[in-house]
Amino acid sequence: MSDLIKTIKSVVWPRRCMFCDGETFENTLFTCDRCRDSLPYVNGKICSKCGRARSECTCSSTTLYYDKAAAPFYFEGGVKKCIHALKFKGKTQFAEPLSEYMLRTFREQYGDEAFDFITCVPLHPEDLKLRGYNQSRLLAEYISQKTEIPFNDGILNKIYRTEKQSGTSPIERFGNVLGAFEVTKGIDLSGMSILLIDDIETTGSTLSECGKMLFLAGADKVCCLSAAVTKLKKKGRS
Ligand SMILES: [Zn+2]
Ligand SMILES: [Zn+2]
Repeated sequence: MSDLIKTIKSVVWPRRCMFCDGETFENTLFTCDRCRDSLPYVNGKICSKCGRARSECTCSSTTLYYDKAAAPFYFEGGVKKCIHALKFKGKTQFAEPLSEYMLRTFREQYGDEAFDFITCVPLHPEDLKLRGYNQSRLLAEYISQKTEIPFNDGILNKIYRTEKQSGTSPIERFGNVLGAFEVTKGIDLSGMSILLIDDIETTGSTLSECGKMLFLAGADKVCCLSAAVTKLKKKGRS
């Protein structure tokens, strides 16, 4: 399509902002001007383990089996709505612009890392069948394309279905995912540095459980990148 036609099209049929559904135009990552200035970006001094601002970090009290995690956003407001739409409402077109935001974080946080490959948190085969796609895989594939780090899908498998994590306590979350993942038998990850992609980092329990399996298979380094990370600290408490 020529640029002129694209411009005309974008004026006549503006896109919808993926965060607020307001009008937006081409080349703006499905983001309207208002959202661009007010999204819940993760910024300030960032904890090198959980990827939250240090003022939001609670990870020192937890053992997490990965080297580092990072995300462009907190899981709030429009970001929450957008990831929910990607995950549950078939809005797979949001994967690409969300990945662009993740790529910014990737360059800031992991620009110096030499990853051997990218992989993603898998869905259980039955959940994959129901949903038709794995949203984390869509994010991972796009990031692989842009960074030219190979995407390797056959590494992690989810071997049993877990309870819905929302509404459960942090301790329950770690218990829920215990033993839920495995590395494909016969795969040796000795000395490998891996970038693990997920949609949302909540307590880090899923990433940690996947990381544990990757380390058990020999991985040297596991770094995580998600589209959003939840704030765990309760308002009004320090
Ligand atoms: Zn908007
Ligand atoms: Zn932290």
